[in-house]
Amino acid sequence: MKTVLITHPDCLDHVTPPGHPEQVARMDAVAQALAEMDLNRVTAPMAAEDDVLRVHPRSHLEALRRAAPAEGWVSLDADTHMSSGTLAAIWRCAGGAVRAVDMVLGGDAQNAFVAMRPPGHHAEKTTPMGFCFFGNVAIAAKHALDHHGLGRVAIVDFDVHHGNGTQDLVEDDPRILFCSTHQSPLYPGTGRADETGVADNVINVPLAEGTDGAGFRRAMNDHVLPRLRDFKPELILMSAGFDAHAADPLAGLELVEDDFAWITAQLCDLADAFCAGRVVSCLEGGYDLTALGASAAAHVKVLRERCDG
Ligand SMILES: [Zn+2]
Repeated sequence: MKTVLITHPDCLDHVTPPGHPEQVARMDAVAQALAEMDLNRVTAPMAAEDDVLRVHPRSHLEALRRAAPAEGWVSLDADTHMSSGTLAAIWRCAGGAVRAVDMVLGGDAQNAFVAMRPPGHHAEKTTPMGFCFFGNVAIAAKHALDHHGLGRVAIVDFDVHHGNGTQDLVEDDPRILFCSTHQSPLYPGTGRADETGVADNVINVPLAEGTDGAGFRRAMNDHVLPRLRDFKPELILMSAGFDAHAADPLAGLELVEDDFAWITAQLCDLADAFCAGRVVSCLEGGYDLTALGASAAAHVKVLRERCDG
C-alpha cells in the first residue's frame, strides 16, 4: 500500500489578497515537489456536516456561510480573508482529513498526507483566525474516535506557530493527546508550557527564536516522544507546518528539511510500535515556496518509505 496523497483543485480557489503569505502558489509548490513520487492520489470529498459539528458549533458554520463574498474579499481579521472560493476549499480540507483517516483506519493505506489549504490549526470553536477556518486535524481526530471507535489519538503539531485552535477544540477530551512545538514569543501568543488541558493531555513546548534542528530534536526527545510512548496512541495525526524552516519569512526558527524528515521518522517509529504504522499528516503552514516544497517532499518521502510495496 502506497502513501495516500489527498488534495482537491478547490484549494486553488481560496484566493487571498496580493502579497498574503498563505497564497495559492503554495499548492503548486507542494504539488510540484511531490509530482514524481509513487503515491496513491485521491481527491478530497466535501466534509459531512456532522464531522465538522463534532468540534465547531452550527453557529460557526452559519457565520462563515453568511460572511462568504460573491466576489472580492471579506476580511474576518487582519490575517484571515474569505474569497468566493473559500467555503468550498475549507469543506474540502476538512473532508480530505476525514477521508485520510477513513483510508488509513480502513486498511486502504498505511499513511496519508493531506496536501490542502487553507490550514486549520488556529481555528477555534467559533473564531476563524490566523488564515484558518475549520480545525481539520481536530475534526480528523474526533472522527477517528467517535466514528471508528478508537480510544486514544495523538496529534503532533510541529508548525512554528502554536496550534491554539486545535488546543481549543481538543483540550477537554482526554482521549486526545495534543503536542505542539512552536516558537515563543510569536503569533498567536498562546502555548505556554503550563497550558496542559483537562487531563494533562496537552503538551506545549515553546522554543526560543533561533532554535535549530538540534534544539528541536532535543525538545521532541525530552518532552514529546516519551509522553507519546506513555500514551500509546492508536493513531498519530500530524499538523505538518513547515514554517519552522530557516528560510521561512514569518518566523525565526532554523530547521532544515532533514529535521522534518527526522521528526516524521520518529513519529512513524512510534506508530509502528503502537498503532500498526497508522499516520495521517495534514499540511498547515510553510510560506517560503522553495522551502515548503523541499520540506514537504522530505516529509512525504519518509512516509512513502514506511509503506510496504
Ligand atoms: Zn504556522
